[in-house]
Amino acid sequence: MTDNNKENILNIQNMAEIKSVGILTSGGDAPGMNAAIRAVTRSAIYAGLKVFGIRRGYQGLIEDCISEFETQSVSNIISRGGTILKTARSMEFKTPEGRAKAYANMQKHGIDSLVVIGGDGSITGATIFSKEYNIPIVGLPGTIDNDLAGTDSTIGYDTAMNTIMDCVDKIRDTATSHARLFFIEVMGRDAGFLALNSAIATGCEDVIIPEEKTQYEQLKMLIDNGFRKSKSSALVIVTESKDPNGGAMGLAQKMKEEFPDYDVRCSILGHLQRGGSPTAADRILASRTGYAAVEALLQGQRNVLIGIRNDEIINIPFAKAIKKDKPIDPDLLKVLRVLSI
Ligand code: ADP
Repeated sequence: MTDNNKENILNIQNMAEIKSVGILTSGGDAPGMNAAIRAVTRSAIYAGLKVFGIRRGYQGLIEDCISEFETQSVSNIISRGGTILKTARSMEFKTPEGRAKAYANMQKHGIDSLVVIGGDGSITGATIFSKEYNIPIVGLPGTIDNDLAGTDSTIGYDTAMNTIMDCVDKIRDTATSHARLFFIEVMGRDAGFLALNSAIATGCEDVIIPEEKTQYEQLKMLIDNGFRKSKSSALVIVTESKDPNGGAMGLAQKMKEEFPDYDVRCSILGHLQRGGSPTAADRILASRTGYAAVEALLQGQRNVLIGIRNDEIINIPFAKAIKKDKPIDPDLLKVLRVLSI
C-alpha cells in the first residue's frame, strides 16, 4: 500500500511531527483497557510512529519499566479483561521529584508523547505532568465508574454493568425462593451510574446513590408496601462510598431492626465487577477512542480526553473531564421507581 493510500484510510497527517508514543494504564483497572492498548499501538504503528509500552502506570514510567511494542505485542488481547501493561497507584508521581524521574525516562527512550488510559486521578496526573514538561498527552477514559464528565460512557463501564446484571439476576432467583430483602453493594466510587442503570436493568425495587440523599422513610415504606401487596422479594442496589447509613451492610442492619419479621441479607459484589472479557460495546469504544487518540496527537492536540457523545467521538479538555460534575439523569430514577411498583 502506498503512503497516499494510508493517509486516505487513516485521515491522519502528522502535523505535530510526533515520532513516538508511550502508552500506560493507570489507577483502577477496567475491562477494555487491552482493546484500547491494541488500538493505540496499531494506529500509531500504522501512522509510522514508534510505540513504547509502559508497565505499571506512572510508577513504571518512574522505574523505567518500558519496552518497544510491535504490532504483534498486542495480538489476541482484544477479548481479555484486565490490562497486559498492568496498572498501579503511584504516590511518587504525585511529587515533583517522581515526575522528574518519569520525564528523564521518557527522554532516555526518545518518547515524545503519551497516551494515558485511566480514570480521573490518572487524568489529573497527566494534566500536571503535561504542563510541567510541555509533553503532548492524550487520555482515554478507562474506568468502570463512568465518572468522567463530557463522555456518555467510559471503557469498562458497560462490561461492569453487565457483570452486575448477571449477579443481581442470580441473587433475585434465591431472594424470590426465600422471600428475602437484599441490599447489594456495587462499585462506582462517588458516582451512581453503575448502581442506577444496573438497578433498571434488573428490575430492582430501589437504589441508593451518592447523587441523591437517601430517603430512608420512603425506602422503608416502599419495601413494606411491596411485601404486603404481592412481592416475593425486594432488591436494593447501593453504591459503595461514604453513605451515612453505612452502605449496604448498614442499611441491611437498620432494616433488620425495623422489620424483624423480614429475612434481610446483604451482598457486596466487590472485585468481580472489574474482571471479565469486555463486552462488544466496550471493545468498540476502546477501538474507536484509541484510534482517535493517535489522530488527536498527530493533529497537534494535547490535554484532551477522547470521549463519545451521541455516538460521535469527541475531544474533551482534561480540565472539563475531571471537574466531577457529571450529573445523573433524574428521569432514570423516575423510570426505576415507576417500574418497580
Ligand atoms: P483513577 O485514575 O482510576 O481515578 P487514582 O485516583 O488512583 O485512579 O489515580 C491514579 C494515579 O494517578 C495515582 O496513583 C497517581 O499516580 C496519579 N495521580 C492522581 N492524582 C494526581 C495528582 N494530583 N498529581 C499527580 N499524579 C496524580
